[in-house]
Amino acid sequence: MGGFFGAVSGRDIVLDVFFGTDYHSHLGTASAGMAVWDAEKGIERQIHNIGNTPFRTKFEGDLPGFSGTCGIGCVSDSDPQPLVFQLRNGMVALATVGVVNNAEELVKTHFLDHGRYFTTLSNGKINVTDLVAGLVNEKEDMVEGIKYASDMIEGSMSMLFMTGPYEIIACRDKKGRLSIHIGKNHEGYCVSFESFAYSKLSYEDCYELGPGEVVRVTKDGFETLSPPGEEMKICAFLWAYYGYPNSNYEGVNVELMRYRNGIIMAKDERARGTLPDVDFVAGIPDSGVPHAIGYANASGKPFARPLIKYTPTWYRSFMPANQGMRNQIAKMKQIPIPELIEGMRLLFVDDSIVRGTQLRETVEFLYSSGAKEVHMRSACPPIMYSCKFLNFSRNESEMDLLARRTVQALEGDEGQKHLDEYSDPSTERGKCLLKAICDELGFDSLGYQTIDGLLDAIGLDRDKVCTYCWTGKE
Ligand code: SF4
Repeated sequence: MGGFFGAVSGRDIVLDVFFGTDYHSHLGTASAGMAVWDAEKGIERQIHNIGNTPFRTKFEGDLPGFSGTCGIGCVSDSDPQPLVFQLRNGMVALATVGVVNNAEELVKTHFLDHGRYFTTLSNGKINVTDLVAGLVNEKEDMVEGIKYASDMIEGSMSMLFMTGPYEIIACRDKKGRLSIHIGKNHEGYCVSFESFAYSKLSYEDCYELGPGEVVRVTKDGFETLSPPGEEMKICAFLWAYYGYPNSNYEGVNVELMRYRNGIIMAKDERARGTLPDVDFVAGIPDSGVPHAIGYANASGKPFARPLIKYTPTWYRSFMPANQGMRNQIAKMKQIPIPELIEGMRLLFVDDSIVRGTQLRETVEFLYSSGAKEVHMRSACPPIMYSCKFLNFSRNESEMDLLARRTVQALEGDEGQKHLDEYSDPSTERGKCLLKAICDELGFDSLGYQTIDGLLDAIGLDRDKVCTYCWTGKE
């Protein structure tokens, strides 16, 4: 994943871009960059590795060297960016968020087959932002080039171009899997993945781009250069897991969606008679917590926090390459409160269950700390398919997914033909899946939110929401 922020104004925007980009730090853990355009000095750009150090710490030393009326910044899980290019239409700085599943094929057909070289990253991977710029540059008109790049790319791609000291051009990915907002204050405009990123910078909500829409933003206003497409498939996981609680997407707030989701889960369980008698309802921090508050409120069981995340230093998800180190960090982040665990019957709500590795360790830890019962609820249905649009679940193979692995263990290849049934807890296969996962991870009981419940909690027209991870339907 990743996120970006840009601003264009009648005054210097360096601090707006600095703080606005910093508010996207939860979306990317590898690298970050800022590029600022000063009408006299031109473009100043810096990129830093943020693997072990927060965005602000890395960039505050650069601030004295930056000045300008237009700027963009981004955090990224993959390529270093923004990159600066000389395109047919002039110089631009570009930041992207997305995944290009056919990158190698595009490099071959658009560059290598025509005798043109293409620069790769030092690790041999294709720099996706570089590829996007190359595709945009295939067309004489920049907007045509942006649309062409969007059409060629399999996956999803949102783009943020700084095209001059007074202009930004933004394009939301073709199916609107992620979001782009425009904010406005009395001196100019900003463009942002996260809507909350600009509210503290005195910008007000102004506009949310539609799927595939291309918009030009200046200090005086914005205009649509290419209209939005009809079809939208915004990612349901924005609300369930990785969006920040203060964010709104398509007018739906993340935190409130999570409360509703928990309420729906508890009400469904009450109706089915599966609500366990527990001492506390708790959330796996951070994103499980609001789902758990909703669940506790609707179940009548008290909410408590037996596990607290140590936010002063483990403030976000570091991603060291070494798996052992990742496990160690996962363990170090969550600190227990023994008085809320010993002898207690606990029901935990997690945002989702992907591979189950960390959850197993958490449950073992809770039992070893004296918990009497541990019941687990997932705020999403069982994940059956890897995300091919945003690279969300990062699995080498779908068999890394706990639910798929369990289906294979239960029924072999035949089971893979009945994933719909396995996803439905009212079927025999669905019950078998729940029992097998309960046994494997050591829960006293397990429940998953249904796809209907999740979509009700989001509240948008169902056709507009991507649920591919759970249904396999595009
Ligand atoms: S497949 Fe899943 S993670 Fe990917 S966009 Fe769709 S809902 Fe989001």
